[in-house]
Amino acid sequence: MPEPYDPELGGPAEPKPYASEIGGSSEPKPYAPDELRALDRAHVWHPYGPMPGRQEPLIVESASGVRLRLAEPVEGQRELVDGMSSWWSAVHGYNHPVLNEAARGQLDRMSHVMFGGLTHEPAVRLATRLVEITPEPLQHVFLADSGSVSVEVAVKMCLQYWRSAGRPEKRRLLTWRGGYHGDTWQPMSVCDPEGGMHELWSGALPRQVFADAPPDGFDAEPDPAYVARLRELIAAHADEVAAVIVEPVVQGAGGMRFHSPAYLRVLREACDELDVLLVFDEIATGFGRTGKLFAAGHAGVSPDVMCVGKALTGGYLTMAATLCTSRVAEGISRGEVPVLAHGPTFMGNPLAASIASASVDLLLGQDWEGEVARIGAGLRSGLAAASDLPGVVDVRVLGAIGVVQLDHEVDMAAATRAAVREGVWLRPFRDLVYTMPPYVTGDDDVQRICRAVCAAAREG
Ligand SMILES: *Cc1c(COP(=O)(O)O)cnc(C)c1O
Repeated sequence: MPEPYDPELGGPAEPKPYASEIGGSSEPKPYAPDELRALDRAHVWHPYGPMPGRQEPLIVESASGVRLRLAEPVEGQRELVDGMSSWWSAVHGYNHPVLNEAARGQLDRMSHVMFGGLTHEPAVRLATRLVEITPEPLQHVFLADSGSVSVEVAVKMCLQYWRSAGRPEKRRLLTWRGGYHGDTWQPMSVCDPEGGMHELWSGALPRQVFADAPPDGFDAEPDPAYVARLRELIAAHADEVAAVIVEPVVQGAGGMRFHSPAYLRVLREACDELDVLLVFDEIATGFGRTGKLFAAGHAGVSPDVMCVGKALTGGYLTMAATLCTSRVAEGISRGEVPVLAHGPTFMGNPLAASIASASVDLLLGQDWEGEVARIGAGLRSGLAAASDLPGVVDVRVLGAIGVVQLDHEVDMAAATRAAVREGVWLRPFRDLVYTMPPYVTGDDDVQRICRAVCAAAREG
């Protein structure tokens, strides 16, 4: 039996000491914080960062429940409530006894074996579970090692489907602006071409077809003029487009924007009429974040291909999955090259797969809808104050996502400091201060996060 778990306090209370601290010799001596910082700066790339780094990263010693424990106090805080769920993945919080147990159990059987010619229960169980919980037409699962790779695989599936059908000219993608689909090459080509992080490569990337960003507002009535333009664009390019790829309902790293699920129904209809496949990238939205288990559920439509990642392993290890319909799988198999030519070394990693299954079971075994709604209500009340702050142009909440949009680029260092002073970890970007807390965040901590978002918006 797992130990009792209090999300406020976290799992096992004391982080494990390093072996060197208890006289063992198998682990190296820990670095002092100053040493660690100097070596980090000298040798280690950080996401979207220069080398050497400009911003001093905070040093995390351990994490438990919803709290990150720092190696030393910063702005008077040794522990920070995590408002980011480690880039939206750690939905159950850190050091969770159930996920730890799944990892330990699998570790003692095997951490990894190759997936070519071999299979194992963790991968089969996870794939079966994913087929059960995603929209019914999705029947086949490709386990990838990161979200970006799962998008690459989705694109490969779609292009290969049309090639197998004797229509190799259908090899472009269509998307709407404002999206984000990852950092490898094909995903970069469908990220927002302006303002995104991949502008630099605009001449080198495959040129895809872009519609305007969907009009703002989850509850907004669909705009008939936009719908007409979207349909026309798909129709105009149907001969060369293999698939439409979008993030359903919430555009995440491209700008934290919400749109009406009605546009997803428009895409589904247009794609069906015009012989184009539809890909939903649910890497950020999957596993309850928007209030439905998958955001496609808001629209009641099913894509031909769907990517999941981020929260799949509860934030423990890197794993993602690309699911497709039997039509897509059979279409590929009928081709001149009947196989999907993709197979990462760490495909189906048993350790990640075991944790992922445990994480999905943990989620579905609780009233996750109630928890997400509770956090959403807390964010709505706590962030209301932000509307009155100077420089704030919009405050929006959907599911367990809270966003404050500014009329200027946020001063990241100042905003981070303001949040840390409130005892909260946030990572604002562009003109956005936002939070996606773990679902186990208690009401008091949700309010603390809201105070930090407001402070960051004020001082950033
Ligand atoms: C994060 C993200 C990705 C990329 O996933 P990685 O695991 O970082 O490669 C792709 N699509 C969406 C919608 C994401 O939020």
